[in-house]
Amino acid sequence: MKNTNQVFDNVLDLVGNTPLIKLNRIVSNFKGDFYAKVESFNPGHSSKDRTALYIIEQAEKKGILKPGDTIIETTSGNTGFSIAMVSIIKGYECILAVSSKSSPDKIDMLRTMGAKVYVCPAHVPADDPRSYYEVAKRIHKEKPGSIYINQYFNELNIDAHYDSTGPEIWKQTEGKITHLVACSGTGGTISGTARYLKEQNPNIKVIGVDAFGSVIKKYHETREFDEKEIYPYRIEGLGKNLIPGATDFDIIDDFVKVTDEESAHTARELARTEGLFSGYTSGAAMQAIKQLDERGEFKKGDKIVVIFPDHGSRYMSKVYSDKWMQDQGFFDSKNEVAVENIQY
Ligand code: PMP
Repeated sequence: MKNTNQVFDNVLDLVGNTPLIKLNRIVSNFKGDFYAKVESFNPGHSSKDRTALYIIEQAEKKGILKPGDTIIETTSGNTGFSIAMVSIIKGYECILAVSSKSSPDKIDMLRTMGAKVYVCPAHVPADDPRSYYEVAKRIHKEKPGSIYINQYFNELNIDAHYDSTGPEIWKQTEGKITHLVACSGTGGTISGTARYLKEQNPNIKVIGVDAFGSVIKKYHETREFDEKEIYPYRIEGLGKNLIPGATDFDIIDDFVKVTDEESAHTARELARTEGLFSGYTSGAAMQAIKQLDERGEFKKGDKIVVIFPDHGSRYMSKVYSDKWMQDQGFFDSKNEVAVENIQY
């Protein structure tokens, strides 16, 4: 845990060393002890602070980056925010190529953090020169002294978590962890954390969380890319329609798929039961725990660590909006209704 009596030089000193918080009410009927690694305690409110800081510092060590240089990435999500934050402190220019699907809120947030944001058309193929992938690549090629983070295909994304998340969890559980449950997007978090933990104890079971509509679980089982698995889904940051090079499929024992609807309800339940206001994928990871408990995965005495990647404040217009939930039809099957507006 962070020592709050300490004075820090800048926000980057607060990256990592996030708390492990015991879950109580939401797991009261489950077998085992459950602990959440709450990544919203990072200064940029997500686990991506670790990835951004680690990759940038590795580039500095190799002499690839010097102050005034440029860091480029293709994301409007947590990684973009973290790169922008690191860039401010370290004096880099940050360029983010994002899809026109990104919400204006997100784009404003990145610009507030000093990033130069290129909004690229969403509905063009990835190899179209206007796509955000191609725009990022072109800027990288044209700008000397620039790096392209490319988190989905960057092995350093795995190393970031091997270097920090894994050792922290090992220490925090005093080596007693039996299961790791974590979402898989780029796969960096789960792969790096699992690699470290399994080096300490190969019996630790590692379970990834994937979305219905993503190819990851099927690829893990068959090592084949099955296009039929792909369809639109709502959870952001979880699963993928491609096979990320930053996922070590051999180190993950199993995957569980979760639905948009159940994950949304579970995210809201986490806030109500544990006072943990977390992102949509935290709800997804907790939903996976529920399914795993139901299938008898855990026994008494097990110590299960689940990673909650980010904070709930980024989802106010989605999971935490009653209107959004209603528009998705997510209240219907639960027979749950939004609280009526009360006029005073
Ligand atoms: N949850 C959220 C909210 C994310 O932004 C991400 C990153 N895409 C993940 C989970 C998954 O983490 P990773 O990319 O390390 O697999």
